[in-house]
Amino acid sequence: MSPAQADPEVSASKIGTTIDFDAPGRQTGFLRVPHSTHESAYGWIPVPVVCIRHGTGPTMLLMAGNHGDEYEGQVALSRLARTLRLEDVQGRLIILPAVNAPAAAAGRRTSPIDGGNLNRAFPGDPEGGPTAMIAHFVDSVLLPLCDYAADFHSGGSSLAYVPCAQANVFPGMESRNKTVLELLDVFGAPVSYVATRPMGAERAFGASARRRGVIAMGTEAGGGGTVAPSAVKMLESGLHRVLRHLEIVPELAVEPGRGTRLVEVGGPDYFVYANESGLFEPAVELGEGVAAGQLAGLMHFPLTPWRDPDPMYFARAGMVLCRRVPGRTERGDCVFHLGSDYRGL
Ligand code: CA
Repeated sequence: MSPAQADPEVSASKIGTTIDFDAPGRQTGFLRVPHSTHESAYGWIPVPVVCIRHGTGPTMLLMAGNHGDEYEGQVALSRLARTLRLEDVQGRLIILPAVNAPAAAAGRRTSPIDGGNLNRAFPGDPEGGPTAMIAHFVDSVLLPLCDYAADFHSGGSSLAYVPCAQANVFPGMESRNKTVLELLDVFGAPVSYVATRPMGAERAFGASARRRGVIAMGTEAGGGGTVAPSAVKMLESGLHRVLRHLEIVPELAVEPGRGTRLVEVGGPDYFVYANESGLFEPAVELGEGVAAGQLAGLMHFPLTPWRDPDPMYFARAGMVLCRRVPGRTERGDCVFHLGSDYRGL
């Protein structure tokens, strides 16, 4: 065997589970992520999972808690897992409402155990820390079972979004891109953004889904380290429309969709970063339209109050899609990003 070939004994996931993903019915349980510590020599970290399989139809993976401090998806998927009736399903749903469970339990973006950012850890490593092992299980065990996937994010502790749906499009994949844009339209968030240069690039979940041939979408619902009712409603009503559209839950009662405004988020000119550390005063609100060169905010220095504030400007025109939440801000922190009307790749 050449060194480039993976040894199946080495590359197999070390994560076990009592869930049989091929079995019909509703199963609830945990992925068991081995984690040997002083307190628990042969212990494992539980990652909750619900598998609902009935009839015939596609398989969809539903994830939230990829970043543990992004709560709207965790609320929505927990509710879906409790309330969906088995007999209404045609196909299979694999639901992971707190996929990076240690991060979700801590209410933090990253895992307090290994510092791992799950959405920068794909395709993962079966021999790595807990975060890498979870990424590897999702990539190598779950995604091969799936036709569709949704990964529900929000702004988390440091950012707030105009509640929106989100997906990635890739050059040279026109048919896939068309299907993804159709799903965004069905989901029907007031705004959907297409990342032409996704954060996390090839280490993000979206890249793993693309490599595995799985049609994937998600959200950036709300954020700010809290749960906005309007963001949860946007997420749930959109998810219900998608489940019905894909005929995984063909009779699900849904509110009619009204399409979406598609915007794109491209390169560095869409983002505004702090040049100085201080107290951030935004000059615009979420959802506002801005012009190139417009003032984005001021960085104040209350501990040197006679110093003039440092202005930050938008490098291009667009809609304010995301802004920083905490006032205290360090040089290098993202304070805004924009979207602009989607013009295609
Ligand atoms: Ca996120």
